[in-house]
Amino acid sequence: MAAPIRIAVAGVGKIARDQHLPAIAASPDFQLAAVVDLHDPQLTVPWFATLDALLDQGPAIDAVVLCTPPQVRYALAAAAISHGLHVFLEKPPGATLAEVELLRTAAHDRGVSLFAAWHSRFAAAVEPARTWLADRTIRSVHIVWREDVRVWHPGQAWIWQAGGLGVFDPGINALSIATAILPQPFFLTRATLLVPANRAAPIAADLAFTDSRQTAITMDLDWRQTGPQTWDIVVETDAGRLELTHGGRVMTGSDEAQRGTDGEYAGLYRRFATLVHTHASDVDITPLRHVADAFLLGQRTRVDAFVD
Ligand code: NAP
Repeated sequence: MAAPIRIAVAGVGKIARDQHLPAIAASPDFQLAAVVDLHDPQLTVPWFATLDALLDQGPAIDAVVLCTPPQVRYALAAAAISHGLHVFLEKPPGATLAEVELLRTAAHDRGVSLFAAWHSRFAAAVEPARTWLADRTIRSVHIVWREDVRVWHPGQAWIWQAGGLGVFDPGINALSIATAILPQPFFLTRATLLVPANRAAPIAADLAFTDSRQTAITMDLDWRQTGPQTWDIVVETDAGRLELTHGGRVMTGSDEAQRGTDGEYAGLYRRFATLVHTHASDVDITPLRHVADAFLLGQRTRVDAFVD
């Protein structure tokens, strides 16, 4: 068996603590070697305030996972790649499409693996849904992604700033699933973005897409939902309705109901290990392109200020 990949985590915030650190600890493929964060996260591995300090003075590493906000990710990824490190990018892979394209080229030229991770694609029922839909004629698609921003992003200033995506931060997860399971590529035709008076990014959005067969695809994103949360995709087909709920973990309405436990991050790390060992990269920017299109085409409407 190959030696574990020595990995550093940069950006030790909510998602690093909730998912990455436990997934790395449980993986036979990886060994946590160091962390990088603006503040000391008080872990048992060496901490560095900057990636440059880790690269200059730290222990030897093979890879880095970037769990910072997207606005600062390009510079970190570019530095890591130029030092010959494999790079795992949390979603979204960057603040712009062009910077991610540059990273893909840089990784190829340097001979390292770049993984633009879409964690929702690793939810248990996503692959069964993709398989079930592959031979169907799609009649319509309705995506509803409504959650409580105060629960999932408490006090996160970056998410409301330019490049932070606002409600598209969770919405891009729905798009990562839709672009994986629907058999035809689709494109945006209309968008309304509701932007709080005191913020730069939307708190809700209403979108319509279609494809070359004129399929109606709608998407309802809202961060103001309290109580039960909704992460559902309903697909009407020539063979009946498929409901993919709980963020891709549960599939009902098809011949076979699927319900899986949440192993998204274990799956992501297995995928990253395979990429490293096979000298490959996986960089799909399609979900980010749809978000960029929403910001290009979207009609902005000001709504009440949002206070955390
Ligand atoms: P977060 O809690 O704000 O954590 C981000 C961390 O990065 C903070 O510790 C921050 O330090 C640190 N950081 C900022 N700039 C840095 C830099 N230049 N170098 C090193 N560290 C830096 O955010 P999060 O919720 O974990 O989200 C991070 C990313 O994961 C986002 O792209 C998000 O879309 C994605 N994600 C989040 C979730 C979730 O449920 N929250 C789920 C899946 C994916 P300071 O706090 O000191 O600024």
